[in-house]
Amino acid sequence: MGEEMSWGFERGRVYNRRADIHARFGGQQQGGIITPSKHQLVIIITGEEGLAHGYADRLRPDGVFEYFGEGQVGPMTMQRGNAAIVTHSANGASLLLFRKNPNGLRFEDEYIYEAHHIEQAPDRLGNLRDAIVFELRRVAAVVEKIDEMAPTSSDLGELRKRAFAAANATPGKSKSTASVFERSRDVRDYVVARAKGHCEGCSEPAPFLRVNGVPYLEPHHIRRLTDGGPDDPRFVIALCPNCHRRVHSGADGSTYNGKLLASMKAIEA
Ligand SMILES: [Zn+2]
Ligand SMILES: [Zn+2]
Repeated sequence: MGEEMSWGFERGRVYNRRADIHARFGGQQQGGIITPSKHQLVIIITGEEGLAHGYADRLRPDGVFEYFGEGQVGPMTMQRGNAAIVTHSANGASLLLFRKNPNGLRFEDEYIYEAHHIEQAPDRLGNLRDAIVFELRRVAAVVEKIDEMAPTSSDLGELRKRAFAAANATPGKSKSTASVFERSRDVRDYVVARAKGHCEGCSEPAPFLRVNGVPYLEPHHIRRLTDGGPDDPRFVIALCPNCHRRVHSGADGSTYNGKLLASMKAIEA
């Protein structure tokens, strides 16, 4: 939806870690990965410690942001904050990237985990060790790209199978895992096909057809504050533009979102 804000954070604005993050959400006061236990949120900070050790997070020319995981000494392990990054979409959590600067933490953007790899990088003691490097994509880039991707099938059962596989994929385990774009598309295609041309919020027919003939409905991620990326299809609903704006901009938006969550139990029994 291209909103300027994520979780009340504005892109490009600098925030104070204690007052703006911990006071609102809680979470670990130390380290570069914050996983508040009461919120569907994973906050990662770049520029925290890698530079001191001799490596740095980096933006690849293909738009992937490579982010080094946490772990001060010895091989990084897929636990705690590192594990939270891998599972954020399946858990319905948003992944927000901040950049450390002299005045605080600058909010960069909201990302989606795509994959990770291992590379050698020095630890705090200067010894080379296995470092986990996460490959992240901007949510907005994923949404923009899949908007142009056509559905892969018109068979609802087939689409459903793919959507659930997309939600439960543990990328990084296998090189053959579908890309984050394909997984995001698979979830969207199933949810839109499931709606059979009618908004799953108000039951009205889709207002128009897309150029490719598919009824125009928007996938709304009920558990996340930002749409886009792979997610569990039991928490994604196909909405007409009116209902969708109501959830995000309406005075009763969060109440309406709660109603949608309740109706999902019947839609996706
Ligand atoms: Zn509607
Ligand atoms: Zn939405």
